[in-house]
Amino acid sequence: MRISFVGVCIAPTQNSLGYVMNQDKKGGKVVRLLDTTLRDGEQMPGVSLAPQQKLEIALALAELGVDSIEAGFPITSRGEFEAVRAIAREIRGVEVIALARAHKADIDKIIEAEVPAIHTFIATSDLHMKYKLRLSPEQVIEKAVWAIEYAKSHGLVVEFSAEDATRSDLQFLAKVFQAVVDAGADRIDIADTVGIAHPSLISFLVSYIKSAVKGGYILSVHCHNDFGMAVANSVTAIESGADQAHVTVLGVGERAGNAALEEVASALAFLYGYKVKIDFSKINRVAKLVARHFGLQIPPNKAIVGVNAFSHESGIHVHGVLSHPLTYEPIDPTIVGAERKIVIGKHSGKHAVEYVIKQLGYEPKEEIVLDVLNKVKELADQGIKVTWDMLIKLVKEEYNG
Ligand code: MN
Repeated sequence: MRISFVGVCIAPTQNSLGYVMNQDKKGGKVVRLLDTTLRDGEQMPGVSLAPQQKLEIALALAELGVDSIEAGFPITSRGEFEAVRAIAREIRGVEVIALARAHKADIDKIIEAEVPAIHTFIATSDLHMKYKLRLSPEQVIEKAVWAIEYAKSHGLVVEFSAEDATRSDLQFLAKVFQAVVDAGADRIDIADTVGIAHPSLISFLVSYIKSAVKGGYILSVHCHNDFGMAVANSVTAIESGADQAHVTVLGVGERAGNAALEEVASALAFLYGYKVKIDFSKINRVAKLVARHFGLQIPPNKAIVGVNAFSHESGIHVHGVLSHPLTYEPIDPTIVGAERKIVIGKHSGKHAVEYVIKQLGYEPKEEIVLDVLNKVKELADQGIKVTWDMLIKLVKEEYNG
């Protein structure tokens, strides 16, 4: 049997979890993840981190195994400069990078902070060039090339982003990228600054830039979530030949945020079969740390790191999961440092109650199981949320009279 994936005919294969995977995309390609939780993420409205908090998150990201940590935008403030400098000093074995406009003052701050890599950018869409930059397309290329040459002359690794790339003239975008690659840029990045791309558009753009721009560069994407497409766009870009995606923990970032690290990394590794250097067992812990420092509640239904991502209540699902967890779970929760939770409520069945009774050290008797289940359902029908403590009390009353 042969299955067609987006026009490519390949033999389907199934991984150990039973998923059908697109075999020809495997072969051990390692995808780079540039984490920008501490830069784009911190630009989330209403969020401001102290240097110590930024350092703590950077250390956790290094342990998690991202390839680059974008530490901040040093020209912004004294504290930001200090935080970026501290991160560049403390982090070993993972690239630390910082943001700069194509301005001398911005780049000088990065050199002064002793950051080894720079992420410099300039807008390439007509809209931004005309109304924001007030520069001609030729002046934009000139400034970009100057910034690359200046940063390279100071020995920095250089990543260049074309801001608003997804709304830029295609030929002009390729021309800018070619000019910066010729000037020595190590990586070029297609920024979907206002999140208007969708998978087929990003796929086309990645293929177009890869064929139009010559040279040895790493191609990256930076996707925003204005239409809820950031993760889909990021993984599609990788599937179309990009080498790197910009991500943030929990998808924090400007407006509706960026592509979520935990989702992009998990999809790439578990669904597509790419290699990422992430230690997945730490991903839930890092998400909790970021939520705490950003002052956020992780939505319960958030993929991979939400409290409900591996929770089960409905009788049919609990019965399945207790017989074999993969019946209603895509992966073992321990892979991503999470726990399976059996929640008792209106939708519960007797298998869930039996499970709870056994966990409390009692022998589950049929009539007691049904009695507890009926009481739980009566409470739930009155709109009362049955907590773990209430449940323990119910079970103990049954056994102790
Ligand atoms: Mn952004």
